[in-house]
Amino acid sequence: SLDGIGPGIERKMRGLLIEKPIDLLLTLPISGIKRELVDTVFMYPSGRYVVVEVTIVRHQPGRSKQTAYKVIVQDKEVSFNLVFFHARKDHLNKVLPVGEKRIISGKLELFDGIQQIVHPEYIIQPSEKIKIERFQAIYPLTAGITQKIMRKSLHSALQLLPELEEWIDPSLKKSRSWPDWSQALKLVHEPNSQEAVAPSYPARERLSYDELYAHQLTLAIARVNNRKKAGRKTVGTGDLVASALDELDFKLTKSQKVSIEDIKEDLAKPYKMNRLLQGDVGSGKTVVAAVSMYISAKNNTQSVLLCPTEVLAEQHFKNFSAWFKNSNIKIELLTGKMPVSKRRGIYQDLEDGVIDILIGTHAVFQDKVKMKNLGLVVVDEQQRFGVKQRFDLVKKSSDQIMPHQLFMTATPIPRTLAMTIFADLETSKIDELPPGRKPVETLVYSDKKKDEIVKRLETVCKSGNQVFWLCTMIEESENLDVQAADEAKEWIKENTNGLNIGLVHSKLSKDQRDKAIENFRSGKTDVLVCTTVIEVGMDVPNASLMVIENAERLGLSQLHQLRGRVGRKADLDAYCVLIYHGEIGEIAKARLEAMKSTNDGFEISEIDMKLRGTGEILGTKQSGGIELRISDLSRDAHLIKKAEKLVEGLNQKDEEISKILLDRWLGDKQNLIIAQ
Ligand code: ADP
Ligand code: MG
Repeated sequence: SLDGIGPGIERKMRGLLIEKPIDLLLTLPISGIKRELVDTVFMYPSGRYVVVEVTIVRHQPGRSKQTAYKVIVQDKEVSFNLVFFHARKDHLNKVLPVGEKRIISGKLELFDGIQQIVHPEYIIQPSEKIKIERFQAIYPLTAGITQKIMRKSLHSALQLLPELEEWIDPSLKKSRSWPDWSQALKLVHEPNSQEAVAPSYPARERLSYDELYAHQLTLAIARVNNRKKAGRKTVGTGDLVASALDELDFKLTKSQKVSIEDIKEDLAKPYKMNRLLQGDVGSGKTVVAAVSMYISAKNNTQSVLLCPTEVLAEQHFKNFSAWFKNSNIKIELLTGKMPVSKRRGIYQDLEDGVIDILIGTHAVFQDKVKMKNLGLVVVDEQQRFGVKQRFDLVKKSSDQIMPHQLFMTATPIPRTLAMTIFADLETSKIDELPPGRKPVETLVYSDKKKDEIVKRLETVCKSGNQVFWLCTMIEESENLDVQAADEAKEWIKENTNGLNIGLVHSKLSKDQRDKAIENFRSGKTDVLVCTTVIEVGMDVPNASLMVIENAERLGLSQLHQLRGRVGRKADLDAYCVLIYHGEIGEIAKARLEAMKSTNDGFEISEIDMKLRGTGEILGTKQSGGIELRISDLSRDAHLIKKAEKLVEGLNQKDEEISKILLDRWLGDKQNLIIAQ
């Protein structure tokens, strides 16, 4: 209902997660610019906003309504195009009369080698110059939404802003020079300098504080709720654990044992567990999950192991089946690629409680999946899943009792971050690798040295070990990725002698892919050329060399995950070769250096955070997560501490203001958190 926003824009704004005026108001400028008149656009790069005076040379209407309408203009040095879609000819003739001068502003682009500005934001008379030479906010955009639309709709939204009673402690407010809530919003949306778009600007800081407080408050409510709700008592005696272990073919490490004890105790408590199992790549988290699920099964409750990829689900299924083959526990696999008839049988068995342990991918979220008595949910590679998805899963039990939850991850979650996602989160750490593991040695090569690398590959294979050769995404195209893998396979074949080379990528049928992975697992193939489909979890202990092409394109945690595919066997020297292409940038260089310097996941993620901020690390951005709107956890840690303290001292009379804050910042999402 805002001025200037029709149904079309409304729809597009959803792309920016803007549904209500409040969402718009909480979409803050990402930067700001002072528009200064330039003489010419010549030499200015694409993406740059410019303001320039031009003479209108000629109109060139599109051949049809669908093609662009161009207006050719000339500045002091060059001519370039103004481009309009769905243009009204009369209107354009009026605002851009041939032969006259106008000042225009907008974002420069390059199209077919010619500079252009699509839908200029301003077209004004040279005499009105003064109007645009002022500081302006720059907003994040999505297709169909321009800076001008954002500014205009924000202007209307600001008119709707009610005055609200202040809830922040006056002395804190004064000491940080924080403005009132509505004043703060006005200031951030009408910045007059670079300082006013920086996070440290008092108005912005005040808003961050509001947000963090609202989050802490929601989590506090969730905590109280959790304690009130009955959980499921699942008792694991020492005997039970011992009998689970009898089925394994190795001895647990000390920290695996401690983690199992932690979990066992939680499961036996009268309210539900929320536990994070943190352990570096290759530290053996799967078996801890297996023992926990075994305890659950022996208590006659069902459990689910949720995996981010099919490859991983299949691998876990195989392992679990082997580990527990002598103990009449019914284990089943459910993935999206399974035939419908097979799935139907599984749905039935889950509802009837015939299946004790279900291992699956996203397919387990489907409505058709209903459980008789779900007692434990284990989420492998938890950073791959959104909060909302987890929530859908824990609701699946027909007896309405919340299941215990175990989250596994190799990505350490900083405390501040964990605090904003989980109400009650206990942590267990596996801080040692199984005995005999040697650190993976990491080497960085330019792709000009591929000949040397392939020699190394041959040596590794001739000595009886195996090699992963990973082709990474080239641009955002799956097809190119697949093509790169095909070519790599051919290239390796031509440059080696007598090796068996397998291939896995997303375009293969499930059967073909299964076969390739199985052949590699069993040692029939020496080299597995693959795309990032194998990224997480894949476990082939005999593999001792991981080669990653275009490694500069990948993030640190992804590289660390991939490197973790090798070095999984006692007393085996393992290597990871990172190949980069051409000249690489500073950050990419820093990433590759970091990989060389340490094998420690903790250090890696710290460096990672420094290089790119906490935002992406947890994957909370996906699928309706509860991401923060404006705060940044690494930056605003000091504010969280303040907010946390305040939540502790909260009393009845604050209830009303609390409700306003929760609605304002979290909207419907507060229910997601509170119900976790
Ligand atoms: P991650 O923690 O990365 O998920 P996995 O659970 O896949 O690691 O375990 C890595 C490998 O180590 C697997 O081959 C697993 O069977 C093996 N493993 C796990 N625990 C032990 C142990 N205590 N002793 C020897 N090998 C182990
Ligand atoms: Mg794993």
